[in-house]
Amino acid sequence: MPSSPLSSVSPTSGAVLTIDLNALRANYRALSNLAAGTECAAVVKANAYGTGSMQTVRALAREGCKTFFVASFKEAEIVRGVAPDATIYVLDGLFDDSGPAFAAASIRPVLSSLDEVRHWSDFCRQAGMPLPAAIHVDTGLNRLGMPRIEAEELKGSPDLVKGFKLALLISHLVCADEPERPNNEAQLQAFEDYRAMLPACPASLANSGGIHLGERYHFDLVRAGFSLYGGKAVAGRDPLSPVVQLHARIAQIRDARHGETVGYGAAHMLERPTRIATLALGYADGIFRCLGATHTTPGLTGYIDGHPAPALGRISMDLITLDVTDVPVELARRGAWVEIIGEHVSVDELAEQAGTIGYEVLTSLGTRAERVYLDSQSGNG
Ligand SMILES: *Cc1c(COP(=O)(O)O)cnc(C)c1O
Repeated sequence: MPSSPLSSVSPTSGAVLTIDLNALRANYRALSNLAAGTECAAVVKANAYGTGSMQTVRALAREGCKTFFVASFKEAEIVRGVAPDATIYVLDGLFDDSGPAFAAASIRPVLSSLDEVRHWSDFCRQAGMPLPAAIHVDTGLNRLGMPRIEAEELKGSPDLVKGFKLALLISHLVCADEPERPNNEAQLQAFEDYRAMLPACPASLANSGGIHLGERYHFDLVRAGFSLYGGKAVAGRDPLSPVVQLHARIAQIRDARHGETVGYGAAHMLERPTRIATLALGYADGIFRCLGATHTTPGLTGYIDGHPAPALGRISMDLITLDVTDVPVELARRGAWVEIIGEHVSVDELAEQAGTIGYEVLTSLGTRAERVYLDSQSGNG
């Protein structure tokens, strides 16, 4: 696949992030099928996990997605700009005096404390409009979400939720990526308890991992994030279709002698005569510095037409050096494309090498690379 999108790239671009909206849509359909009978909402916080919220939201809305979750109000405004009819929830909730902004853009806060509930309720009463909002209850994360003691207080003062429309009750799973952990069942039970305690309304518990935990976790709406973007949401289970690829161009080729060093800190001493390719990509593009190599510890591997090219030395802000000694000369040439994330290296594999998770790789990809969107519905790819 990569050669076709790359051939349309500007000759001045040194790095290209390819985002396959066809794969994204296929993943949305697959998750909707897994959660059949419930609504599948999309979590598009952090610029849709780095994929670009405008393009991604537009594609998902065309696929029938009606509800979107973001972290911040600013992100919600971007979604609203491309999905005028969508339901949009802001997970970070409501800060004091932000009611009018939410109301004006028809964006729903996710209320995570009694304070926020009071605030939204008062605002709605004063505005004379019972506007919708969600309540987030904590079932074990101890992060956002109303603690049990506040939910009990709310149970004792039902008038508080009468000022607005309680449109959704949510909670968030602690380790849905590990189906065997007993925390999942405990959270499910706790969530059921909250549902029995609070006024009846639609409910949502599952993130990507939770969707795979089975029907009992689906309730009325599931919140798909990482899986949508091709990430491996459950340990030991194949991910859906990959959405993101990252390629960089070779900016220079040089030969160095045995005993010379490569890069900052002279951290990598060459143990043989070596041909070095320098790529127009670096840690400022989200390729973590810990993915560099020394002569004793390997780093990332790039692929040139399927030939592996291991990292040499430290990763710099804008550049990565690779060993191309064993790559055919006619392939390892200035201007050639090198795969960093793609057919040979998945987002999750690169993350594992860096000692992190695919979520962090995706959301670190940055804005410097040229973005190419594959979209058969717009006649592109
Ligand atoms: C980020 C987030 C999600 C999506 O999680 P994934 O694991 O990416 O599917 C769902 N719900 C909440 C509350 C979140 O913060």
